[in-house]
Amino acid sequence: MHVTFATEPASPDRPNEDFIAAIPDAVVLLDGAGTPAGSESGCSHGVAWYARTLGSILIASLTQSAGTLTEILAECIKAATSLHDFTCDVNHPGSPSATVVMLRRTGDDLDYLVLADSVLVLDVIGTEDPVVITDDREGQVGKRYRTAMDALDSGTTDHTAALRTYVEAMRAHRNRDGGFWVASSDPLVAEQALTGTLPADQVRAAALLSDGASRLVDRFGLATWRQALDILAQGGPAELVRRVRDAERSDLNGKRWPRGKVFDDATAAYCGV
Ligand SMILES: [Zn+2]
Repeated sequence: MHVTFATEPASPDRPNEDFIAAIPDAVVLLDGAGTPAGSESGCSHGVAWYARTLGSILIASLTQSAGTLTEILAECIKAATSLHDFTCDVNHPGSPSATVVMLRRTGDDLDYLVLADSVLVLDVIGTEDPVVITDDREGQVGKRYRTAMDALDSGTTDHTAALRTYVEAMRAHRNRDGGFWVASSDPLVAEQALTGTLPADQVRAAALLSDGASRLVDRFGLATWRQALDILAQGGPAELVRRVRDAERSDLNGKRWPRGKVFDDATAAYCGV
């Protein structure tokens, strides 16, 4: 595969909690779930550490293992957990977590795995609209809790407090039946991921997006998925991120597009298959 990517933190003085890495025949993208300021997590390492650690183990494993992506993800969650289960409370409901997208070419096949709300966009030959794979269960559960937060101006103390309340309320639904699933300490969540295999010669291109990048389409509505693929093909991943930043800057108080974070870590990868 031919892969290009761009990743940018929400602000230069905060660690990027997204992770992206590629080898010639595979790409992984993770988006660490934030622990808001003032929240307990049981982990001294933090969200960026978790996303980078799990992501590094995943990409290393993809160079070695012929197992299914679900098997590889389960093994890697186990390995990442073993790196801090003796120092941290990995069963804490706020322990660091991450979304995962994996794309791998093996011979004539293209395998994918999507866990949680990062987005995989596949430009499949012969279909007008791209195939979009994401698990929006977190967003569905979140609708119950975000009314108070969305009513407040972003950037205010009240909004920050409401975001913390929102994130803590969501913890009760994390990795539970009827809730939503993300990578954290339990390897079994890998079985909740959306997976599939397509003939590689049926896929023209693929995009992997963290929700900080996909928001151009799925929150701001400023592009269709097809247009997002065109931006990636013509301007590259950095151009997509630039357009997201322009939109965020045009709505600093979140009145037009209510959102938890005014700016979010944004990552986009574009793969020619
Ligand atoms: Zn830890």
